[in-house]
Amino acid sequence: MQVSYEQAISIVQEKFSGGLARLTSESLPLQQSRGRVLGENIVADRPYPPFHRAIRDGYAVRAADVTQSPALLCCVGELRAGQYFQGEVGSGQCVAIMTGAPLPPGADAVVMVEHTEAQASCATGDHQVQVLRGVGRWENVVQQGSEAPAGAEVLPRGRRLAAAELGLLAMVGRAGVTVFRQPAVAILPTGDEIVPVDQAPDWFQIRNSNAVALGAQVASAGGVPKPLDIAPDREERLRELIEEGLNSDLLLLSGGVSMGKYDLVEQVLSGLGAEFYFQGVAIRPGKPLVFGSIRGKFFFGLPGNPVSTFVTFELFVRPAIAMLGGAALEPPVSFRARLCQPLRQSAQLRAFLPARVQTASGEPVVELVGWQGSGDLVGLAAGNCLLVVPPGEAELAPGDWVDVMPKGQ
Ligand code: AMP
Ligand code: MG
Repeated sequence: MQVSYEQAISIVQEKFSGGLARLTSESLPLQQSRGRVLGENIVADRPYPPFHRAIRDGYAVRAADVTQSPALLCCVGELRAGQYFQGEVGSGQCVAIMTGAPLPPGADAVVMVEHTEAQASCATGDHQVQVLRGVGRWENVVQQGSEAPAGAEVLPRGRRLAAAELGLLAMVGRAGVTVFRQPAVAILPTGDEIVPVDQAPDWFQIRNSNAVALGAQVASAGGVPKPLDIAPDREERLRELIEEGLNSDLLLLSGGVSMGKYDLVEQVLSGLGAEFYFQGVAIRPGKPLVFGSIRGKFFFGLPGNPVSTFVTFELFVRPAIAMLGGAALEPPVSFRARLCQPLRQSAQLRAFLPARVQTASGEPVVELVGWQGSGDLVGLAAGNCLLVVPPGEAELAPGDWVDVMPKGQ
């Protein structure tokens, strides 16, 4: 049965929500774990920062000494990052301090060097510093443990590891980390007219671009693509290749799910005992999308038109692979932009149209790319986003705010 966009999203989320439970994990050196999903909770091994850290070059002072400015202080030492001060900053004293050094005992603030003037020597032989502008307590200091106390969770299981997370793991001393196994995702192109990319096509044939684009999408979603041979529009071979694809964690088929006489995918899947969760979604492009399972393995039958394949992957398969791989679900990112042309809405279908968004004039403005419909990869590649047009009766006018989704990696 055909479902709405919202229903399709919630069915996919519900079916894949057990992702974490299904996966085994492995240990990896930190440098090899970019893009992987964390399989353990990470806690701070000590407080962060580990000490009251100066975040400006200047003078460590007692804030109470400089409430009246200018104030004259006696500078009793110098502290670089990587050193600590033995002793205490007394009343009327200060210590020259560099960014990254631990605040000496007794001090509770740092005056920026720009707000001071060095003076002649004081009685002890140390030089004097005139503070031109007072500071509040803890100004220009990050207090020990304020970013994370010792033992606090800094990264949860299920977080995908990108540069910031890797830096954080290194910070807390993790040279190795437990990550979930990546789901294997079989890619099965179908169609008598489809030929491999490295083969010269006859004039009536079409190169297998979907398997290449899908392979890139699977990899960027955190899966391992497993390309299969191209299935002709013949039941027997299609069945064999589907069986082969069911050895992976997830099976993606492209093509053969429309209404044509030789669109055999659903028929063959049914013959193998498939349960369908939906057959068709109220979106454009991508309406013929099917989703189901056979013997506990999920499959998506993606429509063969390259833009439909691309869009349905981004909307449904990307989050599915994330969940299957143990990643916490992150809703697709979208933002608002101003439309710069009139646009007709479809009464029933939610549209995801290749478009270009730019912010040169200050606010984001979005324009459709010229495209010939769901087969047009040239148009898709020319855009940098998908313009989302919700179903409805009224026409959208130039200047209307619309939702825009980044095109993906
Ligand atoms: P289908 O969904 O099988 O009816 O295919 C719809 C359109 O997508 C047809 O024009 C196909 O030639 C095209 N198509 C199907 N599979 C692929 C593929 N793997 N690569 C590029 N185009 C494809
Ligand atoms: Mg076909």
